[in-house]
Amino acid sequence: MIDLHSHSTCSDGRLAPAELVARAADFGVTTLALTDHDTVAGLAAARTAGDELGVRVVAGVELSVTWNKRTLHIVGLAFDPTADALSDGLCALQTQRAERATRIAAKLEKQGLTDALRRAQALAGTGQIARPHFARLLVEDGLCKDMNQAFKRYLKPGKPGHVTIEWATLEAAIGWIHDAGGVSVLAHPFGYGFSGAWRRRAITAFAEAGGGALEICTGSTNRDQEIAAADDAVAHGLLGSIGSDFHAPEQIWLALGRLRPLPCGLVPLWDDPRLCAALHD
Ligand code: AMP
Ligand code: MN
Ligand code: MN
Ligand code: MN
Repeated sequence: MIDLHSHSTCSDGRLAPAELVARAADFGVTTLALTDHDTVAGLAAARTAGDELGVRVVAGVELSVTWNKRTLHIVGLAFDPTADALSDGLCALQTQRAERATRIAAKLEKQGLTDALRRAQALAGTGQIARPHFARLLVEDGLCKDMNQAFKRYLKPGKPGHVTIEWATLEAAIGWIHDAGGVSVLAHPFGYGFSGAWRRRAITAFAEAGGGALEICTGSTNRDQEIAAADDAVAHGLLGSIGSDFHAPEQIWLALGRLRPLPCGLVPLWDDPRLCAALHD
């Protein structure tokens, strides 16, 4: 059982890397990619846990990209986490995250959230600060009833706690992953709130920039979306990937590794020689 998209406390996940791998083992996952936002800090601990528990841990990351004033997420898999260009790129993204957090906190304090930066930093610990940390505070203080409402009312573009960032370019993110020997994946094509036209534009741009694979089956796709994404992948010569995008045990509708198989006619990413090597070394 393969799951190539998951998060730990090194970004906005709720389980430490070793806890995540232990949960994956409990759920019968045999191959797991830890794909934290803009960091590879959890990989070593995840690998150690994986070695103990018999879970193959694939090096992963989910890079923040700005394309046409929109944010895209590019997952990198099976790369060398010590490669220079990737490390430099991650460093720049982490600086942008930290600066954005300061600006989000200032905006949310104007909306009535107290001590926002310190508390968000406390939630993030040594991990990357992400918008879900602020969403949790908005819920904790009773300003919103749940995380979804916090995003809708405060954190989405156009809302009072939103800060626009120019993340990495699509070309740069794909380049860092490929130069580090990895495979690039356009994450959750149905997860951006795009119209069909913008979704297809994004997939085309990713393929034209040299991207390798499209995430087809996730923890929040239905079969119609998976079949539509599979058609797009085939049309652009992209491989197919699957990953739950697991963040927390509280997401009771979403379990590690519980994904439908790829639709027929699509070449799975694990047939790519690079991932093959990572899966069978
Ligand atoms: P960031 O990369 O810091 O902008 O945060 C993006 C993350 O926020 C995504 O990876 C999701 O985990 C989370 N997220 C986005 N929208 C929502 C939502 N409506 N409810 C809960 N979490 C969300
Ligand atoms: Mn996330
Ligand atoms: Mn994402
Ligand atoms: Mn993710």
